[in-house]
Amino acid sequence: MAATGVQLIPSPEEIMQILKRTGAFREGHFVYPNGKHTAHYFQMPLAFRYYDTARVLAVALSRKFRIERDIASQLPKVAIISPSSGGIPVAFGVRDALNAEQIYWAEQETGKRTFRQYVNQGEINPCIIVDDIIRSGNAIEETVELVRSLGSPITGCGAIVRFASAPNSIEDVQIKSLVEYDEQFYGSSDCPMCKQGVPEEHVRF
Ligand SMILES: [Zn+2]
Repeated sequence: MAATGVQLIPSPEEIMQILKRTGAFREGHFVYPNGKHTAHYFQMPLAFRYYDTARVLAVALSRKFRIERDIASQLPKVAIISPSSGGIPVAFGVRDALNAEQIYWAEQETGKRTFRQYVNQGEINPCIIVDDIIRSGNAIEETVELVRSLGSPITGCGAIVRFASAPNSIEDVQIKSLVEYDEQFYGSSDCPMCKQGVPEEHVRF
């Protein structure tokens, strides 16, 4: 037995195999609401619909946090926070693996990212923000602002997949991910799938 006590994190290739097998990673010709075209689409909840798969992904992400001394030393007085509904199963899975004390998730209310009413200043433990996928980073950035406004420090941030074009850190906190994906976006004039006549599928976000 080599390296006893080291908990292995699946490779990006192994994570991609899980995402393909569950239908979370899709190949074709996709059109985003902003008009951009891509040859791939991540529908992450399809990987989280299977409990065993959800657990493998969340435990793997949790290991990236557990090896951080600043985070490990604060456990269990930590909050796991999801910016949106897609990150909720990730948040519960990471919480379970780390035995963190709190979970919160934000929602969009009248165009503003917010927590449920009666979450008060000073109640949120030092926190780790987790999501299923980080495409632009906007959701994470809005959640950072929200959490800071409630007086909680951010000690970690991560997602199962992060697009290479998204930020790789939030202020001084590095964003962790199991897969860093270099997605190519095209306009309709320079899209290779359009040229080949591949049928378009419109994705909602
Ligand atoms: Zn196209």
